Amino acid sequence: MYDSLVFGMEAVPSLPANEPVKSYAPGSPERAALETEIAALRASPPEIPLVIGGRRVETGRIREIRAPFDHSLVLGHYHEAGAREAAMAADAAMEAARAWAETPFPVRAEVFRKAAALISAGYWKPLAAATVLGQSKNAYQAEIDAVCETADFFRVNPALAERLYAEQPRSDSEERNLVDYRPLEGFVYAVSPFNFTAIAANLAASPALMGNVVVWKPASTAVLSAWHLMRLYEEAGLPAGVINFVPGASREITSALLARPDLAGIHFTGSTAVFNSLWKGVAENLSTYRAYPRLVGETGGKDFVFVHPDCDLEAAVAATVRGAFEYQGQKCSAASRLYVPRSRSEEFLSALAAEIGKVKVGSPLEYGNFVNAVIDRAAFETITGYIGRARKNPSCTILAGGGADASKGWFIEPTLILTTDPHAEPMVEEIFGPVLTAYVYDDSDLDAAYALVDSSSPYALTGAIFARERHEIERATRALRNAAGNFYVNDKPTGAVVGRQPFGGARGSGTNDKAGSMLNLLRWTSPRAVKERYAPVRDWRYPFMG
Ligand code: NAD
Repeated sequence: MYDSLVFGMEAVPSLPANEPVKSYAPGSPERAALETEIAALRASPPEIPLVIGGRRVETGRIREIRAPFDHSLVLGHYHEAGAREAAMAADAAMEAARAWAETPFPVRAEVFRKAAALISAGYWKPLAAATVLGQSKNAYQAEIDAVCETADFFRVNPALAERLYAEQPRSDSEERNLVDYRPLEGFVYAVSPFNFTAIAANLAASPALMGNVVVWKPASTAVLSAWHLMRLYEEAGLPAGVINFVPGASREITSALLARPDLAGIHFTGSTAVFNSLWKGVAENLSTYRAYPRLVGETGGKDFVFVHPDCDLEAAVAATVRGAFEYQGQKCSAASRLYVPRSRSEEFLSALAAEIGKVKVGSPLEYGNFVNAVIDRAAFETITGYIGRARKNPSCTILAGGGADASKGWFIEPTLILTTDPHAEPMVEEIFGPVLTAYVYDDSDLDAAYALVDSSSPYALTGAIFARERHEIERATRALRNAAGNFYVNDKPTGAVVGRQPFGGARGSGTNDKAGSMLNLLRWTSPRAVKERYAPVRDWRYPFMG
Protein backbone atom coordinates (compact mmCIF):
# COMPACT_ATOMS: atom_id res chain seq x y z
CA MET A 1 0.00 0.00 0.00
CA TYR A 2 2.92 2.41 0.49
CA ASP A 3 3.49 2.86 -3.23
CA SER A 4 5.80 5.77 -2.72
CA LEU A 5 8.03 4.13 -0.15
CA VAL A 6 11.06 2.00 -0.78
CA PHE A 7 12.35 0.93 2.60
CA GLY A 8 16.02 0.53 3.21
CA MET A 9 17.21 1.76 -0.18
CA GLU A 10 19.36 4.79 -0.65
CA ALA A 11 18.89 5.98 -4.20
CA VAL A 12 20.99 9.14 -3.97
CA PRO A 13 24.28 10.02 -2.30
CA SER A 14 24.06 10.37 1.45
CA LEU A 15 23.57 13.72 3.17
CA PRO A 16 26.16 15.52 5.31
CA ALA A 17 26.55 14.05 8.78
CA ASN A 18 24.45 15.49 11.60
CA GLU A 19 26.13 17.76 14.11
CA PRO A 20 27.27 15.52 17.03
CA VAL A 21 25.21 16.06 20.18
CA LYS A 22 27.32 17.10 23.18
CA SER A 23 26.38 15.49 26.49
CA TYR A 24 27.00 18.29 29.04
CA ALA A 25 27.81 15.55 31.54
CA PRO A 26 29.41 16.71 34.81
CA GLY A 27 33.04 17.71 34.21
CA SER A 28 32.66 17.94 30.41
CA PRO A 29 34.35 20.87 28.67
CA GLU A 30 31.08 21.91 27.01
CA ARG A 31 29.39 22.24 30.37
CA ALA A 32 32.11 24.56 31.64
CA ALA A 33 32.08 26.56 28.38
CA LEU A 34 28.31 26.97 28.48
CA GLU A 35 28.42 28.19 32.07
CA THR A 36 31.08 30.76 31.19
CA GLU A 37 29.02 31.95 28.21
CA ILE A 38 25.82 32.20 30.27
CA ALA A 39 27.69 34.32 32.83
CA ALA A 40 29.02 36.55 30.04
CA LEU A 41 25.56 37.08 28.49
CA ARG A 42 24.09 37.87 31.90
CA ALA A 43 26.86 40.35 32.59
CA SER A 44 26.23 42.40 29.44
CA PRO A 45 22.55 42.52 28.49
CA PRO A 46 22.36 43.77 24.89
CA GLU A 47 20.16 46.49 23.43
CA ILE A 48 19.04 44.76 20.26
CA PRO A 49 18.32 46.85 17.16
CA LEU A 50 16.44 45.90 14.00
CA VAL A 51 18.64 44.97 11.06
CA ILE A 52 17.29 46.39 7.81
CA GLY A 53 19.35 46.34 4.63
CA GLY A 54 22.41 45.54 6.76
CA ARG A 55 21.94 48.67 8.90
CA ARG A 56 21.18 48.74 12.61
CA VAL A 57 17.85 50.56 13.12
CA GLU A 58 16.66 51.81 16.50
CA THR A 59 13.01 52.73 16.89
CA GLY A 60 13.18 53.94 20.49
CA ARG A 61 10.20 51.73 21.33
CA ILE A 62 12.07 49.52 23.74
CA ARG A 63 10.92 46.19 25.17
CA GLU A 64 12.46 44.23 28.00
CA ILE A 65 13.63 40.62 27.69
CA ARG A 66 13.23 38.73 30.97
CA ALA A 67 14.18 35.18 31.87
CA PRO A 68 11.09 32.93 32.09
CA PHE A 69 12.63 31.10 35.07
CA ASP A 70 13.40 34.29 37.01
CA HIS A 71 11.22 37.37 36.52
CA SER A 72 13.79 39.58 38.21
CA LEU A 73 16.47 38.75 35.64
CA VAL A 74 16.58 41.25 32.76
CA LEU A 75 18.50 39.70 29.87
CA GLY A 76 18.43 42.68 27.55
CA HIS A 77 16.18 45.00 25.59
CA TYR A 78 15.08 45.18 21.99
CA HIS A 79 13.80 47.88 19.73
CA GLU A 80 10.35 47.10 18.46
CA ALA A 81 9.46 47.36 14.78
CA GLY A 82 6.07 48.58 13.56
CA ALA A 83 4.42 49.13 10.20
CA ARG A 84 6.96 51.74 9.09
CA GLU A 85 9.98 49.55 9.75
CA ALA A 86 8.23 46.56 8.16
CA ALA A 87 7.86 48.59 4.97
CA MET A 88 11.50 49.66 5.19
CA ALA A 89 12.53 46.02 5.59
CA ALA A 90 10.49 44.91 2.58
CA ASP A 91 12.00 47.76 0.51
CA ALA A 92 15.50 46.75 1.61
CA ALA A 93 14.77 43.13 0.74
CA MET A 94 13.57 44.13 -2.72
CA GLU A 95 16.70 46.21 -3.25
CA ALA A 96 18.84 43.15 -2.48
CA ALA A 97 16.64 40.77 -4.48
CA ARG A 98 18.17 41.01 -7.94
CA ALA A 99 21.81 40.58 -6.94
CA TRP A 100 20.95 37.68 -4.61
CA ALA A 101 18.81 35.94 -7.25
CA GLU A 102 21.70 36.23 -9.68
CA THR A 103 24.22 34.89 -7.17
CA PRO A 104 24.96 31.31 -8.27
CA PHE A 105 23.63 28.63 -5.96
CA PRO A 106 27.06 27.31 -4.88
CA VAL A 107 27.98 30.80 -3.70
CA ARG A 108 24.72 31.19 -1.77
CA ALA A 109 25.20 27.75 -0.24
CA GLU A 110 28.65 28.71 1.06
CA VAL A 111 27.09 31.30 3.36
CA PHE A 112 25.05 28.65 5.14
CA ARG A 113 27.76 26.01 5.11
CA LYS A 114 30.03 28.57 6.70
CA ALA A 115 27.35 29.42 9.29
CA ALA A 116 27.21 25.73 10.22
CA ALA A 117 31.00 25.57 10.51
CA LEU A 118 30.99 28.69 12.70
CA ILE A 119 28.44 27.05 15.01
CA SER A 120 30.62 23.94 15.41
CA ALA A 121 33.72 26.06 15.93
CA GLY A 122 32.35 28.13 18.80
CA TYR A 123 29.19 30.00 17.86
CA TRP A 124 27.32 27.15 19.56
CA LYS A 125 28.08 28.91 22.85
CA PRO A 126 26.08 32.14 22.40
CA LEU A 127 23.29 30.28 20.57
CA ALA A 128 22.95 27.71 23.37
CA ALA A 129 23.39 30.25 26.19
CA ALA A 130 20.79 32.63 24.70
CA THR A 131 18.35 29.73 24.30
CA VAL A 132 18.90 28.57 27.90
CA LEU A 133 18.40 32.07 29.29
CA GLY A 134 15.78 33.52 26.99
CA GLN A 135 13.65 30.47 26.27
CA SER A 136 14.28 28.53 29.50
CA LYS A 137 15.69 25.40 27.88
CA ASN A 138 18.02 23.18 29.84
CA ALA A 139 21.50 22.57 28.42
CA TYR A 140 20.55 19.40 26.58
CA GLN A 141 17.39 20.84 25.05
CA ALA A 142 19.31 23.93 23.95
CA GLU A 143 22.02 21.71 22.45
CA ILE A 144 19.69 19.56 20.33
CA ASP A 145 17.82 22.67 19.15
CA ALA A 146 19.94 25.82 18.92
CA VAL A 147 23.22 24.04 18.20
CA CYS A 148 22.63 20.73 16.42
CA GLU A 149 19.37 21.24 14.56
CA THR A 150 20.41 24.72 13.43
CA ALA A 151 23.75 23.46 12.08
CA ASP A 152 21.96 20.52 10.48
CA PHE A 153 19.54 22.79 8.60
CA PHE A 154 22.47 24.88 7.35
CA ARG A 155 24.38 21.80 6.11
CA VAL A 156 21.63 19.51 4.94
CA ASN A 157 19.49 22.04 3.06
CA PRO A 158 22.29 22.94 0.61
CA ALA A 159 22.81 19.23 -0.12
CA LEU A 160 19.06 18.79 -0.67
CA ALA A 161 18.95 21.85 -2.91
CA GLU A 162 21.74 20.33 -5.01
CA ARG A 163 19.58 17.26 -5.53
CA LEU A 164 16.62 19.41 -6.47
CA TYR A 165 18.60 21.48 -8.97
CA ALA A 166 19.97 18.27 -10.48
CA GLU A 167 16.42 17.23 -11.36
CA GLN A 168 16.42 18.16 -15.06
CA PRO A 169 14.38 17.18 -18.11
CA ARG A 170 15.71 15.20 -21.07
CA SER A 171 17.72 16.87 -23.82
CA ASP A 172 19.01 15.31 -27.05
CA SER A 173 20.99 16.16 -30.16
CA GLU A 174 18.14 18.32 -31.52
CA GLU A 175 17.23 20.35 -28.48
CA ARG A 176 18.39 21.43 -25.09
CA ASN A 177 15.89 21.49 -22.18
CA LEU A 178 16.49 22.79 -18.75
CA VAL A 179 14.58 23.80 -15.68
CA ASP A 180 15.70 27.08 -14.22
CA TYR A 181 14.85 27.05 -10.50
CA ARG A 182 14.11 30.74 -10.05
CA PRO A 183 13.52 32.32 -6.66
CA LEU A 184 10.06 33.78 -6.14
CA GLU A 185 9.42 37.28 -7.48
CA GLY A 186 9.14 39.33 -4.33
CA PHE A 187 10.03 38.83 -0.68
CA VAL A 188 9.21 36.03 1.75
CA TYR A 189 7.76 36.93 5.16
CA ALA A 190 9.22 34.53 7.77
CA VAL A 191 7.35 34.44 11.10
CA SER A 192 8.96 32.27 13.75
CA PRO A 193 7.74 30.77 17.05
CA PHE A 194 9.44 30.98 20.45
CA ASN A 195 10.01 27.32 21.03
CA PHE A 196 12.82 26.35 18.63
CA THR A 197 15.83 28.49 17.77
CA ALA A 198 16.47 26.07 14.89
CA ILE A 199 13.00 26.60 13.45
CA ALA A 200 13.57 30.35 13.56
CA ALA A 201 16.81 29.76 11.67
CA ASN A 202 15.22 27.56 9.04
CA LEU A 203 12.20 29.78 8.42
CA ALA A 204 14.40 32.62 7.18
CA ALA A 205 17.35 30.61 5.87
CA SER A 206 15.66 28.02 3.64
CA PRO A 207 13.99 30.63 1.35
CA ALA A 208 17.25 32.65 1.37
CA LEU A 209 19.25 29.58 0.34
CA MET A 210 16.91 29.19 -2.64
CA GLY A 211 17.70 32.74 -3.73
CA ASN A 212 14.87 34.63 -2.05
CA VAL A 213 15.00 37.73 0.12
CA VAL A 214 13.32 37.64 3.49
CA VAL A 215 11.69 39.86 6.11
CA TRP A 216 11.98 37.90 9.36
CA LYS A 217 9.83 38.57 12.40
CA PRO A 218 10.94 36.45 15.36
CA ALA A 219 8.67 35.77 18.34
CA SER A 220 8.88 38.49 21.01
CA THR A 221 9.75 35.78 23.57
CA ALA A 222 12.79 34.55 21.61
CA VAL A 223 14.46 37.78 20.49
CA LEU A 224 17.71 37.05 22.34
CA SER A 225 18.54 33.84 20.46
CA ALA A 226 17.15 35.34 17.24
CA TRP A 227 19.61 38.23 17.60
CA HIS A 228 22.51 35.79 17.87
CA LEU A 229 21.28 34.03 14.72
CA MET A 230 21.18 37.37 12.91
CA ARG A 231 24.75 38.09 14.01
CA LEU A 232 25.74 34.64 12.78
CA TYR A 233 24.31 35.36 9.30
CA GLU A 234 26.37 38.55 9.17
CA GLU A 235 29.47 36.72 10.34
CA ALA A 236 28.92 34.07 7.68
CA GLY A 237 28.87 36.77 4.99
CA LEU A 238 25.19 36.97 4.09
CA PRO A 239 24.83 40.10 1.93
CA ALA A 240 22.92 43.05 3.40
CA GLY A 241 19.18 42.98 2.82
CA VAL A 242 18.85 39.25 2.12
CA ILE A 243 17.46 38.57 5.61
CA ASN A 244 16.02 41.58 7.43
CA PHE A 245 15.41 41.31 11.14
CA VAL A 246 12.27 42.99 12.51
CA PRO A 247 11.21 41.87 15.98
CA GLY A 248 8.11 43.79 17.00
CA ALA A 249 4.39 44.29 16.88
CA SER A 250 2.98 41.26 15.04
CA ARG A 251 -0.27 42.69 13.80
CA GLU A 252 1.14 45.97 12.54
CA ILE A 253 4.07 44.32 10.80
CA THR A 254 1.82 41.69 9.29
CA SER A 255 -0.81 44.07 7.97
CA ALA A 256 1.88 46.29 6.43
CA LEU A 257 3.55 43.35 4.69
CA LEU A 258 0.41 41.52 3.58
CA ALA A 259 -0.80 44.65 1.79
CA ARG A 260 2.25 44.76 -0.52
CA PRO A 261 2.06 43.52 -4.13
CA ASP A 262 5.55 42.04 -3.79
CA LEU A 263 4.67 39.58 -0.99
CA ALA A 264 5.81 36.31 -2.57
CA GLY A 265 5.40 33.89 0.31
CA ILE A 266 4.88 33.34 4.02
CA HIS A 267 7.05 30.87 5.92
CA PHE A 268 5.37 30.40 9.27
CA THR A 269 5.60 28.16 12.30
CA GLY A 270 3.34 28.76 15.27
CA SER A 271 -0.25 28.29 16.30
CA THR A 272 -3.02 27.24 13.95
CA ALA A 273 -5.08 30.33 14.83
CA VAL A 274 -2.33 32.75 13.80
CA PHE A 275 -1.63 30.85 10.57
CA ASN A 276 -5.35 30.94 9.77
CA SER A 277 -5.34 34.70 10.29
CA LEU A 278 -2.35 35.06 7.94
CA TRP A 279 -4.06 32.94 5.28
CA LYS A 280 -7.23 35.05 5.60
CA GLY A 281 -5.15 38.23 5.34
CA VAL A 282 -3.61 36.97 2.11
CA ALA A 283 -7.04 36.04 0.74
CA GLU A 284 -8.32 39.53 1.50
CA ASN A 285 -5.42 41.10 -0.37
CA LEU A 286 -5.34 38.58 -3.21
CA SER A 287 -6.05 41.00 -6.02
CA THR A 288 -3.08 43.18 -5.03
CA TYR A 289 -0.37 40.51 -5.43
CA ARG A 290 1.86 40.18 -8.47
CA ALA A 291 1.88 36.39 -8.01
CA TYR A 292 0.04 33.97 -5.75
CA PRO A 293 2.01 34.00 -2.49
CA ARG A 294 3.29 30.62 -1.33
CA LEU A 295 1.83 29.83 2.08
CA VAL A 296 3.83 27.39 4.17
CA GLY A 297 2.77 26.91 7.76
CA GLU A 298 3.63 24.32 10.38
CA THR A 299 1.13 24.74 13.19
CA GLY A 300 -0.35 23.07 16.27
CA GLY A 301 -0.53 19.49 17.41
CA LYS A 302 -2.34 17.13 19.76
CA ASP A 303 0.19 14.38 19.60
CA PHE A 304 -0.54 10.87 20.80
CA VAL A 305 1.16 7.90 22.39
CA PHE A 306 -0.73 4.67 21.84
CA VAL A 307 0.29 1.82 24.13
CA HIS A 308 -0.45 -1.62 22.76
CA PRO A 309 -1.11 -4.41 25.29
CA ASP A 310 1.91 -6.45 24.14
CA CYS A 311 4.46 -3.62 24.29
CA ASP A 312 7.59 -3.15 26.38
CA LEU A 313 6.01 -1.11 29.18
CA GLU A 314 9.24 0.22 30.61
CA ALA A 315 10.26 1.65 27.23
CA ALA A 316 6.79 3.11 26.70
CA VAL A 317 6.87 4.80 30.13
CA ALA A 318 10.34 6.29 29.54
CA ALA A 319 9.39 7.56 26.07
CA THR A 320 6.16 9.03 27.41
CA VAL A 321 7.96 10.97 30.14
CA ARG A 322 10.45 12.38 27.64
CA GLY A 323 7.91 12.87 24.86
CA ALA A 324 5.39 14.68 27.03
CA PHE A 325 7.52 16.74 29.39
CA GLU A 326 10.85 17.67 27.79
CA TYR A 327 10.95 21.43 27.27
CA GLN A 328 7.85 21.60 29.47
CA GLY A 329 5.72 20.06 26.70
CA GLN A 330 6.23 23.21 24.63
CA LYS A 331 7.09 21.27 21.51
CA CYS A 332 4.57 21.06 18.72
CA SER A 333 5.41 17.35 18.70
CA ALA A 334 5.03 16.81 22.47
CA ALA A 335 2.87 13.87 23.52
CA SER A 336 -0.30 15.28 25.04
CA ARG A 337 -2.78 12.43 24.77
CA LEU A 338 -2.12 8.89 25.83
CA TYR A 339 -4.11 5.73 25.05
CA VAL A 340 -3.61 2.90 27.51
CA PRO A 341 -5.08 -0.65 27.15
CA ARG A 342 -7.53 -1.64 29.87
CA SER A 343 -5.73 -4.97 30.40
CA ARG A 344 -2.54 -3.19 31.52
CA SER A 345 -3.80 0.24 32.53
CA GLU A 346 -3.18 0.00 36.27
CA GLU A 347 0.33 -1.30 35.81
CA PHE A 348 1.19 1.32 33.16
CA LEU A 349 -0.40 4.36 34.79
CA SER A 350 1.05 3.66 38.23
CA ALA A 351 4.54 3.22 36.74
CA LEU A 352 4.12 6.42 34.72
CA ALA A 353 2.84 8.43 37.71
CA ALA A 354 5.75 7.14 39.80
CA GLU A 355 8.30 8.26 37.18
CA ILE A 356 6.63 11.66 36.81
CA GLY A 357 6.90 12.02 40.57
CA LYS A 358 10.69 11.77 40.24
CA VAL A 359 10.96 14.65 37.74
CA LYS A 360 12.56 17.78 39.18
CA VAL A 361 11.18 21.16 38.20
CA GLY A 362 13.25 24.35 38.37
CA SER A 363 15.77 26.65 36.77
CA PRO A 364 17.57 25.43 33.63
CA LEU A 365 20.78 26.67 35.24
CA GLU A 366 20.57 23.77 37.72
CA TYR A 367 21.35 20.62 35.82
CA GLY A 368 19.22 18.17 37.82
CA ASN A 369 16.03 19.85 36.61
CA PHE A 370 14.33 18.03 33.77
CA VAL A 371 11.37 20.43 33.55
CA ASN A 372 12.00 24.19 33.55
CA ALA A 373 9.79 27.27 33.31
CA VAL A 374 7.17 27.78 30.61
CA ILE A 375 7.78 30.73 28.35
CA ASP A 376 5.73 33.59 29.84
CA ARG A 377 2.81 34.67 31.96
CA ALA A 378 0.28 34.14 29.16
CA ALA A 379 1.43 30.53 28.67
CA PHE A 380 1.42 29.98 32.45
CA GLU A 381 -2.15 31.22 32.72
CA THR A 382 -3.39 29.23 29.73
CA ILE A 383 -1.85 25.98 30.95
CA THR A 384 -2.90 26.34 34.59
CA GLY A 385 -6.38 27.25 33.28
CA TYR A 386 -6.57 23.86 31.55
CA ILE A 387 -5.41 22.09 34.74
CA GLY A 388 -7.95 24.03 36.82
CA ARG A 389 -10.82 23.10 34.50
CA ALA A 390 -9.69 19.44 34.50
CA ARG A 391 -9.89 19.46 38.33
CA LYS A 392 -13.52 20.50 38.08
CA ASN A 393 -14.38 18.14 35.22
CA PRO A 394 -16.08 15.03 36.67
CA SER A 395 -14.54 12.87 33.91
CA CYS A 396 -10.99 13.84 34.94
CA THR A 397 -8.70 12.82 37.80
CA ILE A 398 -5.22 14.24 38.34
CA LEU A 399 -2.85 11.30 38.81
CA ALA A 400 0.42 13.24 39.06
CA GLY A 401 1.52 16.87 39.36
CA GLY A 402 -1.09 19.58 38.97
CA GLY A 403 0.81 22.21 40.95
CA ALA A 404 2.27 25.49 39.71
CA ASP A 405 4.36 28.27 41.18
CA ALA A 406 4.80 31.69 39.62
CA SER A 407 6.56 33.35 42.53
CA LYS A 408 10.00 33.36 40.90
CA GLY A 409 9.47 31.99 37.39
CA TRP A 410 6.70 30.37 35.34
CA PHE A 411 6.93 26.86 36.78
CA ILE A 412 4.29 24.17 36.26
CA GLU A 413 4.63 20.59 37.46
CA PRO A 414 4.50 17.81 34.91
CA THR A 415 0.88 16.76 35.14
CA LEU A 416 -0.90 13.53 34.29
CA ILE A 417 -4.67 13.62 33.98
CA LEU A 418 -6.80 10.50 33.59
CA THR A 419 -10.14 10.93 31.87
CA THR A 420 -13.04 8.61 31.21
CA ASP A 421 -14.16 10.83 28.31
CA PRO A 422 -12.02 10.49 25.16
CA HIS A 423 -13.33 13.88 24.02
CA ALA A 424 -12.69 15.75 27.28
CA GLU A 425 -11.09 19.18 26.78
CA PRO A 426 -7.52 18.21 27.79
CA MET A 427 -7.73 15.14 25.54
CA VAL A 428 -8.49 17.07 22.35
CA GLU A 429 -7.20 20.66 22.67
CA GLU A 430 -3.59 21.75 22.26
CA ILE A 431 -2.43 22.88 25.73
CA PHE A 432 1.23 23.44 24.84
CA GLY A 433 2.55 22.79 28.30
CA PRO A 434 3.60 19.93 30.61
CA VAL A 435 0.18 18.28 30.68
CA LEU A 436 -0.57 14.77 29.45
CA THR A 437 -4.06 13.30 29.45
CA ALA A 438 -4.63 9.55 29.44
CA TYR A 439 -7.64 7.56 28.33
CA VAL A 440 -8.05 3.84 28.95
CA TYR A 441 -9.29 2.06 25.83
CA ASP A 442 -10.94 -1.30 25.50
CA ASP A 443 -8.30 -3.60 24.05
CA SER A 444 -10.84 -6.17 22.89
CA ASP A 445 -11.58 -3.77 19.98
CA LEU A 446 -8.34 -2.29 18.67
CA ASP A 447 -9.93 -1.05 15.44
CA ALA A 448 -12.31 1.11 17.45
CA ALA A 449 -9.38 2.42 19.50
CA TYR A 450 -7.40 3.36 16.37
CA ALA A 451 -10.50 5.06 14.93
CA LEU A 452 -10.80 7.08 18.13
CA VAL A 453 -7.17 8.20 17.97
CA ASP A 454 -7.61 9.16 14.33
CA SER A 455 -10.81 11.14 14.75
CA SER A 456 -10.71 12.87 18.10
CA SER A 457 -8.39 15.80 17.37
CA PRO A 458 -8.33 18.36 14.55
CA TYR A 459 -4.54 18.02 14.36
CA ALA A 460 -2.30 15.41 12.72
CA LEU A 461 1.28 16.24 13.60
CA THR A 462 3.03 13.43 15.49
CA GLY A 463 2.09 10.16 17.10
CA ALA A 464 3.79 7.09 18.53
CA ILE A 465 2.72 3.51 18.99
CA PHE A 466 4.37 1.05 21.33
CA ALA A 467 3.89 -2.57 20.27
CA ARG A 468 5.86 -5.78 19.69
CA GLU A 469 4.01 -8.00 17.27
CA ARG A 470 4.88 -7.17 13.65
CA HIS A 471 1.37 -7.58 12.15
CA GLU A 472 -0.01 -5.32 14.84
CA ILE A 473 2.61 -2.67 14.13
CA GLU A 474 1.62 -2.80 10.46
CA ARG A 475 -2.09 -2.68 11.29
CA ALA A 476 -1.67 0.36 13.53
CA THR A 477 0.58 2.06 10.99
CA ARG A 478 -2.12 1.62 8.35
CA ALA A 479 -5.04 2.58 10.59
CA LEU A 480 -3.29 5.77 11.72
CA ARG A 481 -1.92 6.71 8.29
CA ASN A 482 -3.54 10.16 8.28
CA ALA A 483 -3.41 10.77 12.03
CA ALA A 484 0.19 12.03 12.04
CA GLY A 485 2.69 13.49 9.59
CA ASN A 486 5.50 12.08 11.77
CA PHE A 487 4.73 8.60 13.02
CA TYR A 488 6.96 6.74 15.45
CA VAL A 489 7.09 3.06 16.29
CA ASN A 490 8.53 2.24 19.72
CA ASP A 491 9.99 5.73 20.11
CA LYS A 492 8.87 9.05 21.55
CA PRO A 493 6.99 11.36 19.17
CA THR A 494 9.46 14.26 19.57
CA GLY A 495 13.03 14.89 18.46
CA ALA A 496 12.86 14.79 14.64
CA VAL A 497 16.36 15.13 13.18
CA VAL A 498 17.10 17.04 9.97
CA GLY A 499 17.91 14.65 7.12
CA ARG A 500 16.37 11.73 9.02
CA GLN A 501 12.76 12.54 9.88
CA PRO A 502 11.46 15.38 7.65
CA PHE A 503 9.03 17.22 9.89
CA GLY A 504 5.44 18.39 9.55
CA GLY A 505 1.80 17.39 9.71
CA ALA A 506 -1.44 17.88 7.81
CA ARG A 507 -5.04 18.62 8.85
CA GLY A 508 -4.97 21.41 11.49
CA SER A 509 -1.20 20.97 11.90
CA GLY A 510 -0.25 22.81 8.75
CA THR A 511 0.59 22.55 5.09
CA ASN A 512 2.95 19.59 5.72
CA ASP A 513 5.76 20.97 3.61
CA LYS A 514 8.25 19.03 5.71
CA ALA A 515 10.95 21.25 7.17
CA GLY A 516 14.41 19.82 6.54
CA SER A 517 13.44 18.19 3.26
CA MET A 518 13.48 18.96 -0.43
CA LEU A 519 9.70 19.37 -0.28
CA ASN A 520 10.16 22.53 1.76
CA LEU A 521 12.83 23.94 -0.54
CA LEU A 522 10.55 23.28 -3.50
CA ARG A 523 8.10 25.84 -2.16
CA TRP A 524 10.70 28.60 -2.42
CA THR A 525 11.36 28.20 -6.09
CA SER A 526 9.32 29.05 -9.17
CA PRO A 527 10.68 26.88 -11.96
CA ARG A 528 11.02 28.11 -15.54
CA ALA A 529 11.37 25.55 -18.35
CA VAL A 530 13.74 26.62 -21.11
CA LYS A 531 13.83 24.87 -24.50
CA GLU A 532 16.41 25.62 -27.17
CA ARG A 533 16.16 24.10 -30.65
CA TYR A 534 19.58 23.79 -32.25
CA ALA A 535 18.45 23.68 -35.89
CA PRO A 536 15.26 25.72 -36.17
CA VAL A 537 12.47 24.61 -38.52
CA ARG A 538 12.34 26.78 -41.64
CA ASP A 539 9.08 25.71 -43.29
CA TRP A 540 5.76 26.21 -41.49
CA ARG A 541 3.97 23.53 -43.63
CA TYR A 542 3.53 19.99 -42.16
CA PRO A 543 4.06 16.89 -44.35
CA PHE A 544 0.44 15.72 -43.75
CA MET A 545 -0.77 18.74 -45.71
CA GLY A 546 0.72 17.36 -48.92
P1 NAD B 1 2.21 31.85 18.06
O1 NAD B 1 1.26 31.47 16.98
O2 NAD B 1 1.67 32.56 19.23
O3 NAD B 1 3.37 32.77 17.47
C1 NAD B 1 4.10 32.40 16.33
C2 NAD B 1 4.58 33.66 15.65
O4 NAD B 1 3.45 34.38 15.15
C3 NAD B 1 5.33 34.63 16.57
O5 NAD B 1 6.37 35.26 15.85
C4 NAD B 1 4.25 35.63 16.93
O6 NAD B 1 4.77 36.88 17.30
C5 NAD B 1 3.50 35.71 15.63
N1 NAD B 1 2.15 36.22 15.77
C6 NAD B 1 1.33 36.17 16.85
N2 NAD B 1 0.16 36.76 16.58
C7 NAD B 1 0.23 37.18 15.31
C8 NAD B 1 -0.66 37.86 14.44
N3 NAD B 1 -1.88 38.20 14.84
N4 NAD B 1 -0.25 38.13 13.19
C9 NAD B 1 0.97 37.75 12.77
N5 NAD B 1 1.87 37.13 13.55
C10 NAD B 1 1.49 36.84 14.79
O7 NAD B 1 2.98 30.52 18.47
P2 NAD B 1 4.09 30.32 19.59
O8 NAD B 1 3.43 30.47 20.92
O9 NAD B 1 5.30 31.12 19.30
O10 NAD B 1 4.44 28.79 19.34
C11 NAD B 1 3.60 27.78 19.78
C12 NAD B 1 2.75 27.22 18.66
O11 NAD B 1 3.60 26.88 17.58
C13 NAD B 1 2.06 25.94 19.07
O12 NAD B 1 0.76 25.94 18.55
C14 NAD B 1 2.91 24.86 18.40
O13 NAD B 1 2.25 23.67 18.16
C15 NAD B 1 3.33 25.56 17.15
N6 NAD B 1 4.54 24.97 16.59
C16 NAD B 1 4.41 24.15 15.52
C17 NAD B 1 5.53 23.55 14.97
C18 NAD B 1 5.41 22.63 13.78
O14 NAD B 1 6.42 22.32 13.17
N7 NAD B 1 4.21 22.19 13.43
C19 NAD B 1 6.78 23.79 15.51
C20 NAD B 1 6.88 24.65 16.61
C21 NAD B 1 5.74 25.24 17.13
